[in-house]
Amino acid sequence: MIQNVLVLGAGSAGLLAAITLKKKLPTLNVRIVRSSDIGVIGVGEGTTPAFPQHLFDYLGLDVARFFKEAEPTWKLGIRFVWGPREYFDYTFHQQFEGRWSHLSREPGFYAYEDFRGADIPSALMEAGKAFMFKTDGSGDPDMNMKFALHIENLKLVATLEKIAEEFGVKFLEGKVSGVERGPAGLTALRLEDGQRLEADFFVDCSGFRSELLGRAMEEPFVNYDRALFCDRAVIGGWDRTTETTLAYTTAETMEAGWAWQIEHEHHINRGYVYCSQAISDEAACEEFLRKNPKAPKSPRVVKFRSGRYRRMWVENVVAIGNAAGFVEPLEASALMAVTTQCQKLVDMFVNSSLQPNESLRALYNHLAGGSFDTIRDFLSLHYKLNTRLDNEFWRHCREDTELGGIAPLVEFYRENGPVILGTYTLPQFVDPYGLEGYLVMLIGNRAPYKARYQPTAAEMNNWNQIRTTLIARARQGMSVDESLRLIRSPKWRWQ
Ligand SMILES: Cc1cc2nc3c(=O)[nH]c(=O)nc-3n(C[C@H](O)[C@H](O)[C@H](O)COP(=O)(O)OP(=O)(O)OC[C@H]3O[C@@H](n4cnc5c(N)ncnc54)[C@H](O)[C@@H]3O)c2cc1C
Repeated sequence: MIQNVLVLGAGSAGLLAAITLKKKLPTLNVRIVRSSDIGVIGVGEGTTPAFPQHLFDYLGLDVARFFKEAEPTWKLGIRFVWGPREYFDYTFHQQFEGRWSHLSREPGFYAYEDFRGADIPSALMEAGKAFMFKTDGSGDPDMNMKFALHIENLKLVATLEKIAEEFGVKFLEGKVSGVERGPAGLTALRLEDGQRLEADFFVDCSGFRSELLGRAMEEPFVNYDRALFCDRAVIGGWDRTTETTLAYTTAETMEAGWAWQIEHEHHINRGYVYCSQAISDEAACEEFLRKNPKAPKSPRVVKFRSGRYRRMWVENVVAIGNAAGFVEPLEASALMAVTTQCQKLVDMFVNSSLQPNESLRALYNHLAGGSFDTIRDFLSLHYKLNTRLDNEFWRHCREDTELGGIAPLVEFYRENGPVILGTYTLPQFVDPYGLEGYLVMLIGNRAPYKARYQPTAAEMNNWNQIRTTLIARARQGMSVDESLRLIRSPKWRWQ
């Protein structure tokens, strides 16, 4: 029976794993070993709604305290400067998967020209606001919608570290230099200073080094290089002065990849993810600085490879976070993958009374591998459809990106258009994006389809009027800065 868990690494993955295990299985003895010399990666600042759901709903952490210490801002979606439109917005709600009572067909059939304001978050994004006001006259913002967060990585890590300590997680300092093995997996980690740390279960959160799963267990790596061609990022932000704080991330097409803009209260974080076979580091930095004159003159370059380990749980070692796999942050999915893996690990521990067997490990690997591949497939669609630039890199993306499990959906769309029936062509997996995500990409990029439907003038009028009204209402809403002031005022009560 598992009693002693040793987590290697105190980045956001290690801390979330330790907190989750300790909160859900308080009898476990959970320790973290980490090296201050190596430090944390220090990037990873956008989330999906799965992240606040994990913290506040699943773990029941105090939302007021988290907002006070980690200082996140709200993220309603991603603005894509992508494809033939000036831009389009991907929200975490429902622009295309539902039906509108005044329209005879699905909303996607009306969206060729314009779909700004097709749901509340997209109306807010269009208006540059974070929340509508409640209609009860209280003057409070209506936060009853799915949102994600922007959080500075180092503030997140510092906050999680305090929470972990309060939950009874013990921290050890040292650099792991070797392992000891027994018949059922690892038995101990050896540190450079001669310490020897025994445990009966090991969680590898050592980031890209993947010290335990990759190096010690030698689990093979499954490369995603036929779907995702980028392998580097230049990163550089600046302190906010007069720029409005936006309630969304921006993803903007670049010559050999794309650039993010993440909105913190006092800082703007920019980064350019690119393909090193298509552009040199120097040229990427130059392009990045041309677009972002306020960024530091020597931005940091981070190298990565997209892919995942074949199995993420081998014997008594499970890897979570960058140690398990990585895909570029085009949908900011890494922390979602971390929280999903943490929850699944708890499920496997609970269902086996802390004595997990091979069939539970196999199920875990099937689910964790499947969710990584789902993220890969969604991102691959972003590249496949983007017609904004006509250069060698983007032509290569359009022609050669492999779509994996969503190829049947894209074929179906090309025949039938944005119909909800497309959902039945998706792989039977828990898919965090759902048909909605794929439809936003297909419609946002004006991917062509054969099944023409000509809306009547009255229908188009309805479609346009409802969106215009929603955007007008959103313009009266609350900005990010006003919302931050409100939640810090003595009158504010979190619900
Ligand atoms: C360019 C880029 C942009 C990203 N953007 C996003 C984003 O917007 N959203 C998102 O969710 N994610 C993003 N990510 C992913 C992000 O890095 C992860 O979500 C997150 O920070 C998890 O990191 P980690 O804890 O796995 O690794 P790290 O932060 O690297 O932590 C590794 C830990 O292991 C320790 N360690 C390693 N080796 C040893 C050893 N031998 N001995 C002792 N300790 C050791 C280190 O000291 C450290 O504590 C991005 C990643 C990159 C590269």
